[in-house]
Amino acid sequence: MTDLTQSTVTQLSKLLAAKEVSAEELAKAYLDKIDAHKELHAYLDVRPEETLKQAKEADKKIAEGTAGPLTGVPIAHKDIFVTKEWPSTAASKMLEGYMSPFDATVVERLKKEGMVCLGKTNCDEFAMGSTTANSAYGKTLNPWDKDAVPGGSSGGSASCVAARTAPIATATDTGGSIRQPAAFCGVTGIKPTYGRPSRWGMIAFASSLDTAGVIAQTAEDCALVLSSIIGFDKRDSTSIELPPEDLTIDLNQDIKGKRIGVPRKWLEKLSPGLKASLEEALKKYQSLGAELVDIDLSKADLGVPVYYIIAPAEASSNLSRYDGVRYGHRAGKYADLLDMIKKSRDEGLGPEPKRRILIGTYVLSHGYYDAYYIKAQKVRRLIAQEFDNAFANKCDIIFAPVSTDAAFSFGDKNDPLSLYLSDLFTVPGSLAGLPSMSLPCGISDKGRPYAFQLIAPRLQESSLLNTAHAYQLVTDWHKKVPAGY
Ligand code: GLN
Repeated sequence: MTDLTQSTVTQLSKLLAAKEVSAEELAKAYLDKIDAHKELHAYLDVRPEETLKQAKEADKKIAEGTAGPLTGVPIAHKDIFVTKEWPSTAASKMLEGYMSPFDATVVERLKKEGMVCLGKTNCDEFAMGSTTANSAYGKTLNPWDKDAVPGGSSGGSASCVAARTAPIATATDTGGSIRQPAAFCGVTGIKPTYGRPSRWGMIAFASSLDTAGVIAQTAEDCALVLSSIIGFDKRDSTSIELPPEDLTIDLNQDIKGKRIGVPRKWLEKLSPGLKASLEEALKKYQSLGAELVDIDLSKADLGVPVYYIIAPAEASSNLSRYDGVRYGHRAGKYADLLDMIKKSRDEGLGPEPKRRILIGTYVLSHGYYDAYYIKAQKVRRLIAQEFDNAFANKCDIIFAPVSTDAAFSFGDKNDPLSLYLSDLFTVPGSLAGLPSMSLPCGISDKGRPYAFQLIAPRLQESSLLNTAHAYQLVTDWHKKVPAGY
């Protein structure tokens, strides 16, 4: 039989339904491949016995005829989602070995569909970062080029899908953490509308931005699995009360006449190679009958300063729960309660979460709150309105870059500020809560993937996925596999 691990979720679903492969065989094939590619450090925790247990249950459902389309299909979960059978650490020493008494809603829903968990993927500590270098357990490598960052914070999820050690992985996006790693690893990632997937059981970073999504080979796979993830959850107070939606229904719609908005000024900021590949992608869209219109997103240029006030402000509040009292790391030696809290936080948290707690506490403090936090909230609203205006008057969907170039190398951007600035194209959509995705569209001279971003109006995941799928039907970039994987 051909190498099963090269298959998409859609293909695996068919093979399982036709009983050409069992869930157990499939799980074993992936576990072997994960074992063979430990050099990537994409996984933080793998427990074959738990994976095989889930696979056997899936096989039982298939035999009984109670299986759904995802039953038996393997998936990896970002270590931001809490899981009962695997430790949940958010890649922090603070939560080393932490076993959650419950599954995150996203995990629970996919488990109910019969998906088989392969393990937990590496990320930046508390999802703060763009490279996985902030993981307390060491960085993940990019299978395209070991010197290149895999992107972050969901670098483990992107790397494992690119290396075909998982057909799909969950991920989270607060300011770009699904789109940017998917872009750097040559895979397809989607962040749905804020509030559509539940945040219950997602280890919190910035609650008004944190959004669950998936990284897969294709838009079609994203649509299939995301349909089972989104939907109202009463345990999340910002969950949108909407009935479930099958996001695969519109996948094959004709995109003729669709108006694609292009923020031309953003394209001027790109490396010549990336710019050329984006221009190629735009031509493809034109050849499919889409209409290109120029749009202006100059307010979105303020996204980085706004994001780096709001996200740390929320993080400083969210991370105050790690006090060494209820769970998480507790210092071994301390004088009194206050000393215990101080030492536990000092030992358990890495430099980036500490930096953000400091920034966040500062912008929320008396005297600075109005100048920074309130001002940032106002500009956030202006950015959201700018997108709303573009969608109301000019276009159905926005085509944008994900980053200014292909993946940079480890060590290239060492200071926090240059990393923060590299989020310029992803944070605006996050601040506005819009669904957006990242698709591969080329490969640089150095052999590193190029990608573009699509951004849709709120709740229009179907249109977003349709636009992405139309491109993948006429191109092959999403089918490219890094050598040796
Ligand atoms: N790179 C951004 C940050 O460090 C985004 C992270 C994310 O989306 N989780 O905050």
